[in-house]
Amino acid sequence: MAYTPPDSIFDLAPRELKQAVAEMGQPAYRAQQLSEWLYDKRSRSFEEMSNLPRGMREKLAARFTFDPLRLEKKRVSKDGTVKFLFRLGDECDIETVLIPSETLNAEGESKRLTLCVSTQVGCPLDCKFCATATLKLQRNLSAGEIVGQFMLAQRETHRRITNMVFMGMGEPMLNYDNVMRAVETLTNPDNQVIGPKRITLSTSGIVKNIVRMADEQRPIKLAISLHALRDKLRTELMPINKRWNLRDLGRAIEYYYNKTNIPVTYEYILFDGLNDSMDDVKRLAKLARRVPSKVNVIPFHPIDFTNPTGFAAELKATTPEKFNAFIAQLRALDVTVMIRSSSGKDIEAACGQLALSNTPEIVV
Ligand code: SF4
Repeated sequence: MAYTPPDSIFDLAPRELKQAVAEMGQPAYRAQQLSEWLYDKRSRSFEEMSNLPRGMREKLAARFTFDPLRLEKKRVSKDGTVKFLFRLGDECDIETVLIPSETLNAEGESKRLTLCVSTQVGCPLDCKFCATATLKLQRNLSAGEIVGQFMLAQRETHRRITNMVFMGMGEPMLNYDNVMRAVETLTNPDNQVIGPKRITLSTSGIVKNIVRMADEQRPIKLAISLHALRDKLRTELMPINKRWNLRDLGRAIEYYYNKTNIPVTYEYILFDGLNDSMDDVKRLAKLARRVPSKVNVIPFHPIDFTNPTGFAAELKATTPEKFNAFIAQLRALDVTVMIRSSSGKDIEAACGQLALSNTPEIVV
């Protein structure tokens, strides 16, 4: 039987938290106090919420669990990237990665700390370059398990997490309701955990939910995991392209921008001899100009440890010379290009890798 996580306090969207407190016969300001303990003071239990009446704390503990996941492993990379392996109530593992930006502030600290969050255990899509894909889909994460990743990672770091991306394990658009519920909690203006403009949802191209996100005027940002500009190649790399091809995707992106006015980001991993030609540059520039956008060009990290076969086994990183030439040519065509560095390469901080690899050097 499918596992359903018990109700965690972190599952509750702001309006539900208020309702739960009201149902306990408590005045409205108690909901605000509870919310402060959870999200401002990053409390670890109901017990320590000292300004809540004991009876209310007991009722909360009887009705809700607290953290819906626990820290199992934590690994720190030489470049400051931190990779967390979290264990869920059903003993499944997910990973969450904290990535410091390379740009520094006046104090010499990275300007941004971005948390890359998982939305599913495994993933049902079969992108050939992705380690998570080999896990298949185990289940969707609950909203509380998504919020919990943020709160536990924040407790583990002395600095405030400034940005968040749904780019960990899983396709967030296939767990849309729980992802958006988590966004509502984390961006609740009363809590000030993180602003919506600092959250990015990355999708492989689930067109129906790009349209839904536009219709609902969600204020977070959208990124498209693109990687190819020819349908044949994109379908080989990302079979979801069979369901929604590049034409469908392009139209959905235009629809999204026209509704929200929010620029989009394209992610483009460079594979040797597959998508790194001058023709690819031109096609990418053409798409990038359709709506205000930027392109993240990303080096490929091989996933040999998953023992890939067939097409997946043939994928190779493009050479540094071709990588640099690709970027220069894109920029010459007036495309805004960011180079995603190899953050956390030494701890395999890419899609799905810690949950699969059994590396011993662990710092907890
Ligand atoms: S790249 Fe993303 S969407 Fe594709 S299989 Fe991996 S986790 Fe799923």
